[in-house]
Amino acid sequence: MHGKLDFDVAVVGGGPSGAIAALKCSLLGFKVALLEKTPFQSKPCGGLLTQKSLQALNKVVDGEIPESVFSRPSTLKVCYVYPNEGKSCIVNYEVLNVKRDLFDSWLREYDSKRGVKVLRNAELIKLTNTQPVRIIVKNYRGHLSLNVKYLVGADGVYSKVRRQLFPTVHFETAPAIQEYWKWKGNLKNYFYIFFKRELTRAYAYLIPKDGILIAGIWTPRENFKMLKARMALFKKLLKEKLSIEPNSVLKREIWAIPYQHALEGLGNVILVGDAGGFCNTLTGEGISYAMESALAAGESIWEASNKDCEAVQVYREKVKEIVAFLWEKRETATSLNDEDCKSFVEFLEKAY
Ligand SMILES: Cc1cc2nc3c(=O)[nH]c(=O)nc-3n(C[C@H](O)[C@H](O)[C@H](O)COP(=O)(O)OP(=O)(O)OC[C@H]3O[C@@H](n4cnc5c(N)ncnc54)[C@H](O)[C@@H]3O)c2cc1C
Repeated sequence: MHGKLDFDVAVVGGGPSGAIAALKCSLLGFKVALLEKTPFQSKPCGGLLTQKSLQALNKVVDGEIPESVFSRPSTLKVCYVYPNEGKSCIVNYEVLNVKRDLFDSWLREYDSKRGVKVLRNAELIKLTNTQPVRIIVKNYRGHLSLNVKYLVGADGVYSKVRRQLFPTVHFETAPAIQEYWKWKGNLKNYFYIFFKRELTRAYAYLIPKDGILIAGIWTPRENFKMLKARMALFKKLLKEKLSIEPNSVLKREIWAIPYQHALEGLGNVILVGDAGGFCNTLTGEGISYAMESALAAGESIWEASNKDCEAVQVYREKVKEIVAFLWEKRETATSLNDEDCKSFVEFLEKAY
């Protein structure tokens, strides 16, 4: 075991939640280490940033997202497809279309210029103690022991920090599949959302990205085996109703979306983003909640250090409304039928 590097805060995971939590803590004057296990992480994601994500980002990041991070087209309007008729409704709401791997790298780069010690190839192996916090990290030099006052678990849906804090808690997830297509058929540049209960309790989607089409579907309350069958049905419907089909499938990714009541953490260990279940189970949107929970984590650590109390106590209070909102969305998501989806699209059609 190599020597100890000591920091006030260690953040595990260099995705959006980790990068923003680390940045916020550094801006508040803490000595921060950000640990990312992969040298160039590429998380399965649609790479769509909502206006809410941008608002959260702008709270700590000066300036614009660099041009190079954007995909083509760089923005997409949202087009909802009715459950049955193949009719659609385009809403006047735009999302940003980014290359998710470059977006995350840019954020980590931004962090390192603002005083965060970004440790790449650094994987959390074990949380050996929570009070005070002690972790074992594996990097290219071997194993490293870190003592920190606060730990932020931002290590995604399969979080090791969470599993070590709550070993007996079953964390529910919704499996998701994405395929990258070269395709044939006419398609305008929209983010297409398909509601159809025969397909999934959530929704299926198409995202045009740099000349490729991402076709995705996620499906709560089912196992991974069902995903391929769901995708096959989605393809059949696309071909029959919209004459769209893949020429070739370039890549297939399987991952998951948290489908769970948020878990805030324990003592001075805080869970943010997917690790804590901060994701909208109705829309699948996670990046804005990852960032919002990360900002709340930074503020909580700062307040806790001044009050000399446990960080999670402050954090629980700060994220109370987000947690309640996300839980309500989950309840809605589990009860929607095709008629509800149709009414929702009709409502959007009138509203926009
Ligand atoms: C198929 C799919 C499509 C999606 N599309 C969208 C979308 O378009 N827009 C949107 O807003 N949301 C989308 N989401 C949700 C969104 O991707 C997540 O909510 C978001 O990535 C959560 O960010 P995070 O930083 O909490 O976790 P992650 O992005 O998962 O980052 C976790 C990081 O921790 C690192 N890590 C893991 N374990 C360790 C360890 N032991 N030690 C060190 N590092 C570790 C990982 O390498 C990774 O970099 C999608 C999800 C899926 C599954």
